Amino acid sequence: MSKEDKIYVAGHAGLVGAAIVRKLQSQGFMNVVMRTHKELDLTRQQDVEVFFLQEKPLFVIVAAAKVGGIYANDTYPADFIGINLQIQTNVIDAAHKSGVKKLLFLGSSCIYPKFAPQPIKEESLLTGPLEPTNEWYAIAKIAGIKMCQAYRLQYSWDAISGMPTNLYGPHDNFHPENSHVLPALIRRFHEAKVSGLMEVVVWGTGSPLREFLHVDDLADAVLFLMLHYSEISHINVGSGKEVTIKELAELVKEVVGYEGQLTWDLSKPDGTPRKLMDNSKLESAGWHAKIPLREGLIDTYKWYVENYGK
Ligand code: GDP
Repeated sequence: MSKEDKIYVAGHAGLVGAAIVRKLQSQGFMNVVMRTHKELDLTRQQDVEVFFLQEKPLFVIVAAAKVGGIYANDTYPADFIGINLQIQTNVIDAAHKSGVKKLLFLGSSCIYPKFAPQPIKEESLLTGPLEPTNEWYAIAKIAGIKMCQAYRLQYSWDAISGMPTNLYGPHDNFHPENSHVLPALIRRFHEAKVSGLMEVVVWGTGSPLREFLHVDDLADAVLFLMLHYSEISHINVGSGKEVTIKELAELVKEVVGYEGQLTWDLSKPDGTPRKLMDNSKLESAGWHAKIPLREGLIDTYKWYVENYGK
């Protein structure tokens, strides 16, 4: 992939896509192609095919997906399986047919079985039942990995898949119910601070363990994979560091500067008890995450205040 090559980033307006575009441009890749949702609806097969035939990108990064937290996944199962299958099938197939050289498909750590041995290795895929709160999304993402593998086997096409752990950063979705835990807590603590509320409610027991990766680290890994990785197996992308939801809540509280109380809503689901990726494959290839959680939280909170907080 050279600096002049045309690179299509599907989903450039989202958390992940926006970070990938920032990364590519900062590294001198100036021929980045983007389409807004309004310009190109990726669930419409024919539109996607026409786009690829006209635009002819040489490289593709699939960061477009219907995403959401534990509540959204549980509430909109049809959207999470249907829209994701449509988007990825259309993009992967049209990319292949139009002569794209290499494609990177992004998934998520929720593809792994609920009780996979921790830290989770790539080989754990399809070895047990999924976590029910996000199995619809997970099944779509597993189909995407398999599609990349099948196209590699049948056509010798360079399609790879990267599986990031829980991500956060600028451009995240800060919706109060539908977002992931980290942006949800930033918003809730910030609003409580501003309005002088003495109590903030956090979901579940606080005991689940989660690994978080700043999206700028992911974008760095994506570029690394585009340049250096070409194997049939999907590859994990994590920070290797995990915290309990309780520790996370305390850290967000501190970064936001909120001084009230925390209470736990036990009627909300905990989800999977632990979800730590084994990153040894990527690390032995030479890539490591760099942004510590506290630093990444400070950066994300700053972005939130500048864009939503006023
Ligand atoms: P998950 O990693 O797929 O389970 O997705 P989430 O980021 O939605 O949830 C992670 C954990 O944070 C779960 O144990 C939730 O119960 C917990 N959690 C605590 N407060 C919140 C909140 O306000 N929103 C969300 N989404 N999760 C929360």
